[in-house]
Amino acid sequence: MHKPVAELALIEQIRSGSRGGARFPCVALGIGDDCAILRPPRGHEVLVTTDFTLEGRHFRRDWHPPQSVGHRALARGLSDLAAMGARPQAAFLSLALPAEMLGTRAGRLWVTRFFEGLRYLAGLHNCPLAGGDTAESPADLVLADIVLVGTAPAGRALRRSAARPGDALYVTGALGGAAAELGILSRTGKPGRRVHRVSMLRTGPVPPNPQLYPWPRIEVGLALLRRHLATAAIDLSDGFSTDLTHICRESGVGAEVLAAALPIHPLAAKLPQQAIRLALHGGEDYELLFTAPASVTMPRSVASVPITRIGQITRGSALVLIDATGRRSPLRPGGWEHFTSA
Ligand code: ADP
Ligand code: MG
Repeated sequence: MHKPVAELALIEQIRSGSRGGARFPCVALGIGDDCAILRPPRGHEVLVTTDFTLEGRHFRRDWHPPQSVGHRALARGLSDLAAMGARPQAAFLSLALPAEMLGTRAGRLWVTRFFEGLRYLAGLHNCPLAGGDTAESPADLVLADIVLVGTAPAGRALRRSAARPGDALYVTGALGGAAAELGILSRTGKPGRRVHRVSMLRTGPVPPNPQLYPWPRIEVGLALLRRHLATAAIDLSDGFSTDLTHICRESGVGAEVLAAALPIHPLAAKLPQQAIRLALHGGEDYELLFTAPASVTMPRSVASVPITRIGQITRGSALVLIDATGRRSPLRPGGWEHFTSA
């Protein structure tokens, strides 16, 4: 089937917006040919992750501005690389757009802004868009799939399976903010704080708009690996309780979590009744959860991101939450179920 003119024009727009592979050591050939050619650094392994961003499931066009949709699509993949301590090297984007979006001015503006959000985040992490595919969506829905390629020194990538009894448990940044901001969006249809320019988003220790513009912790992951500060790691996409369960299952261990130690995002802290629940089960914070032997002296911050000790790894398989009075209760995975259950 021939590609419609509108799609060809879009590919041209994407191509001209990408600055070519020259500046990026790993990309020998970027957008423009049938394949990209990647050249990983000697002594490194290649890590690959892929993530859907589906309208109605991962975002809503009436809640998430287009820049946010592009940002989040890339952030999901970057966060997976961060969790393994990998350096991002190239991104690939398969994008299906409704016909109406390719054919109208407002639609084309949406797409331009989507790429603005994606490219700004890509630029912060030196990760070029090196290829993809573009098609007309079979429905009135934006569907995207992002592939991220990263590299890590051979044999050194951080895995979920390396936590050991006695290890301390840490999180980066703060929890519950993404779910709290989603609550604001769903009640008001507006972000908690209007975002005009994506470039204004990077200040402070935690993301001010954690649902719309989460900050994947690439620099933290790289530093944890380089400085031998972590045994196991995972990124918090599904929710703390669910992602902790993943680490524990893969490592064959249990965990104890101190509720009072959980770092609460300011947006969640405004809802004191719900703060702990949002932090434990809210999801989409894209912080890192990691373990380290108790003998490791953990800095208070890594790559300028606050690190908080929140519990420890135990023998067995039980996940236990300990409240401020010392009462113990089972911690069950209750992570993010996306908009279908909202
Ligand atoms: P082919 O038909 O050979 O798959 P396309 O015409 O689909 O090639 O794409 C031409 C070039 O544009 C390729 O290098 C491809 O990687 C790139 N490209 C197409 N769509 C996208 C996209 N959504 N994002 C980034 N690059 C894209
Ligand atoms: Mg081809």
